[in-house]
Amino acid sequence: MAQALRKDWDTYFMDIAFMVSTRSRCPRRHVGAVLVQGKKLLGTAYNGAPMGVPDCSEAGCMIVEEYEPAAGDGAGGMVKKQRCIRTIHAEQNLLLFTDRIDREGSTVYVTDQPCWTCANMLANSGIQEIVYHRAYPKDYEKVEALMKQRGLLFRRIEGYQPPADTEVQDGSAR
Ligand SMILES: [Zn+2]
Ligand SMILES: [Zn+2]
Repeated sequence: MAQALRKDWDTYFMDIAFMVSTRSRCPRRHVGAVLVQGKKLLGTAYNGAPMGVPDCSEAGCMIVEEYEPAAGDGAGGMVKKQRCIRTIHAEQNLLLFTDRIDREGSTVYVTDQPCWTCANMLANSGIQEIVYHRAYPKDYEKVEALMKQRGLLFRRIEGYQPPADTEVQDGSAR
Protein backbone atom coordinates (compact mmCIF):
# COMPACT_ATOMS: atom_id res chain seq x y z
CA MET A 1 0.00 0.00 0.00
CA ALA A 2 1.26 3.44 -0.88
CA GLN A 3 2.34 5.60 2.00
CA ALA A 4 0.27 8.76 2.55
CA LEU A 5 2.03 11.89 1.38
CA ARG A 6 3.37 13.90 4.28
CA LYS A 7 1.59 17.27 4.40
CA ASP A 8 3.49 20.53 4.62
CA TRP A 9 2.62 22.82 7.55
CA ASP A 10 0.45 25.20 5.51
CA THR A 11 -1.68 22.32 4.27
CA TYR A 12 -1.75 20.74 7.72
CA PHE A 13 -3.08 23.82 9.52
CA MET A 14 -5.41 24.85 6.68
CA ASP A 15 -6.90 21.33 6.68
CA ILE A 16 -7.59 21.76 10.40
CA ALA A 17 -9.25 25.15 9.74
CA PHE A 18 -11.52 23.48 7.15
CA MET A 19 -12.37 20.63 9.55
CA VAL A 20 -13.22 23.21 12.24
CA SER A 21 -15.45 25.12 9.78
CA THR A 22 -17.75 22.10 9.50
CA ARG A 23 -18.96 22.86 13.06
CA SER A 24 -20.69 26.01 11.81
CA ARG A 25 -24.49 25.91 11.72
CA CYS A 26 -24.98 28.79 9.30
CA PRO A 27 -26.07 27.19 6.01
CA ARG A 28 -24.75 30.14 4.00
CA ARG A 29 -21.22 30.21 5.20
CA HIS A 30 -18.83 27.88 7.04
CA VAL A 31 -15.64 29.58 8.17
CA GLY A 32 -12.94 28.07 10.37
CA ALA A 33 -9.89 29.72 11.93
CA VAL A 34 -6.98 28.37 13.93
CA LEU A 35 -4.26 30.09 15.94
CA VAL A 36 -0.74 28.73 15.49
CA GLN A 37 2.30 29.71 17.51
CA GLY A 38 5.48 28.17 16.09
CA LYS A 39 4.09 24.77 15.08
CA LYS A 40 1.72 24.62 18.01
CA LEU A 41 -2.06 24.84 17.71
CA LEU A 42 -3.35 27.23 20.38
CA GLY A 43 -6.96 27.72 19.44
CA THR A 44 -9.75 26.93 16.99
CA ALA A 45 -12.97 28.78 16.16
CA TYR A 46 -15.81 28.90 13.62
CA ASN A 47 -18.58 31.34 12.82
CA GLY A 48 -21.62 30.93 15.04
CA ALA A 49 -24.27 32.54 17.21
CA PRO A 50 -23.34 33.36 20.82
CA MET A 51 -23.59 30.43 23.26
CA GLY A 52 -27.10 29.64 24.44
CA VAL A 53 -28.70 31.58 21.58
CA PRO A 54 -30.58 29.82 18.75
CA ASP A 55 -28.30 29.43 15.74
CA CYS A 56 -29.06 29.68 12.02
CA SER A 57 -30.11 26.01 11.80
CA GLU A 58 -32.75 26.62 14.53
CA ALA A 59 -33.83 30.22 13.97
CA GLY A 60 -32.88 30.69 10.31
CA CYS A 61 -30.29 33.08 9.02
CA MET A 62 -30.61 36.75 9.97
CA ILE A 63 -30.40 38.29 6.53
CA VAL A 64 -29.54 41.88 5.74
CA GLU A 65 -29.31 43.36 2.28
CA GLU A 66 -26.51 45.72 1.46
CA TYR A 67 -25.22 47.48 -1.60
CA GLU A 68 -21.59 46.93 -2.35
CA PRO A 69 -19.25 47.77 -5.24
CA ALA A 70 -19.60 45.15 -7.98
CA ALA A 71 -15.92 45.03 -8.86
CA GLY A 72 -14.51 45.87 -5.46
CA ASP A 73 -13.22 49.23 -6.70
CA GLY A 74 -16.61 50.77 -7.44
CA ALA A 75 -15.93 50.95 -11.17
CA GLY A 76 -18.59 48.34 -11.97
CA GLY A 77 -21.38 50.13 -10.08
CA MET A 78 -23.20 48.79 -7.03
CA VAL A 79 -24.89 45.41 -6.57
CA LYS A 80 -27.31 44.29 -3.87
CA LYS A 81 -25.93 41.47 -1.71
CA GLN A 82 -27.45 39.41 1.08
CA ARG A 83 -25.52 38.62 4.20
CA CYS A 84 -26.25 36.62 7.36
CA ILE A 85 -25.40 38.67 10.44
CA ARG A 86 -26.51 36.17 13.10
CA THR A 87 -23.06 34.72 13.56
CA ILE A 88 -19.94 36.01 15.24
CA HIS A 89 -17.22 35.61 12.63
CA ALA A 90 -14.69 32.81 13.15
CA GLU A 91 -11.78 35.25 13.51
CA GLN A 92 -13.66 37.22 16.18
CA ASN A 93 -14.52 34.04 18.09
CA LEU A 94 -10.86 33.05 17.85
CA LEU A 95 -9.91 36.34 19.53
CA LEU A 96 -12.59 35.85 22.20
CA PHE A 97 -11.29 32.40 23.07
CA THR A 98 -7.52 32.93 23.04
CA ASP A 99 -5.19 34.94 25.24
CA ARG A 100 -3.29 37.99 24.06
CA ILE A 101 -0.01 36.54 25.31
CA ASP A 102 -0.49 33.42 23.16
CA ARG A 103 -1.23 35.56 20.13
CA GLU A 104 1.92 37.66 20.15
CA GLY A 105 3.84 36.80 16.96
CA SER A 106 1.41 34.04 15.98
CA THR A 107 -0.18 32.99 12.67
CA VAL A 108 -3.91 32.70 11.96
CA TYR A 109 -4.99 30.16 9.35
CA VAL A 110 -8.49 30.92 8.15
CA THR A 111 -10.55 29.21 5.44
CA ASP A 112 -11.64 32.58 3.96
CA GLN A 113 -9.93 35.90 3.55
CA PRO A 114 -11.01 37.98 6.57
CA CYS A 115 -13.59 40.71 6.05
CA TRP A 116 -12.59 44.29 6.81
CA THR A 117 -13.84 44.24 10.43
CA CYS A 118 -12.10 40.97 11.26
CA ALA A 119 -8.89 42.08 9.58
CA ASN A 120 -8.98 45.32 11.55
CA MET A 121 -9.38 43.37 14.80
CA LEU A 122 -6.69 40.84 13.88
CA ALA A 123 -4.33 43.72 13.08
CA ASN A 124 -4.63 44.83 16.70
CA SER A 125 -4.56 41.38 18.30
CA GLY A 126 -0.85 40.57 18.45
CA ILE A 127 -0.85 38.13 15.50
CA GLN A 128 1.82 38.63 12.86
CA GLU A 129 0.53 36.61 9.91
CA ILE A 130 -2.78 35.77 8.24
CA VAL A 131 -2.99 32.82 5.85
CA TYR A 132 -6.25 32.11 4.00
CA HIS A 133 -7.55 30.06 1.10
CA ARG A 134 -10.89 31.29 -0.32
CA ALA A 135 -10.78 34.81 -1.72
CA TYR A 136 -13.09 37.62 -0.61
CA PRO A 137 -12.64 40.26 -3.33
CA LYS A 138 -15.06 42.75 -1.73
CA ASP A 139 -12.64 43.66 1.05
CA TYR A 140 -9.34 42.54 -0.48
CA GLU A 141 -7.83 45.90 -1.34
CA LYS A 142 -8.45 47.61 1.96
CA VAL A 143 -7.39 44.56 3.95
CA GLU A 144 -4.20 44.20 1.92
CA ALA A 145 -3.38 47.90 2.42
CA LEU A 146 -4.00 47.59 6.16
CA MET A 147 -1.74 44.56 6.45
CA LYS A 148 1.01 46.40 4.60
CA GLN A 149 0.69 49.49 6.81
CA ARG A 150 0.72 47.34 9.92
CA GLY A 151 3.68 45.26 8.69
CA LEU A 152 1.80 41.96 8.91
CA LEU A 153 2.21 39.01 6.56
CA PHE A 154 -0.89 38.32 4.52
CA ARG A 155 -1.01 35.51 2.00
CA ARG A 156 -3.28 33.13 0.20
CA ILE A 157 -2.47 29.43 -0.18
CA GLU A 158 -2.74 28.78 -3.91
CA GLY A 159 -3.36 25.38 -5.43
CA TYR A 160 -4.79 24.05 -2.21
CA GLN A 161 -7.56 21.45 -2.10
CA PRO A 162 -9.71 21.46 1.06
CA PRO A 163 -10.41 18.06 2.64
CA ALA A 164 -13.41 16.18 1.19
CA ASP A 165 -16.88 17.22 2.42
CA THR A 166 -15.71 20.33 4.29
CA GLU A 167 -17.18 22.92 1.92
CA VAL A 168 -20.77 24.16 1.70
CA GLN A 169 -22.05 22.84 -1.61
CA ASP A 170 -24.15 25.87 -2.56
CA GLY A 171 -21.44 28.13 -3.91
CA SER A 172 -23.75 31.15 -4.21
CA ALA A 173 -23.73 31.77 -0.46
CA ARG A 174 -21.80 34.72 0.80
ZN1 LIG B 1 -26.70 32.24 8.97
ZN1 LIG C 1 -15.24 38.78 9.40
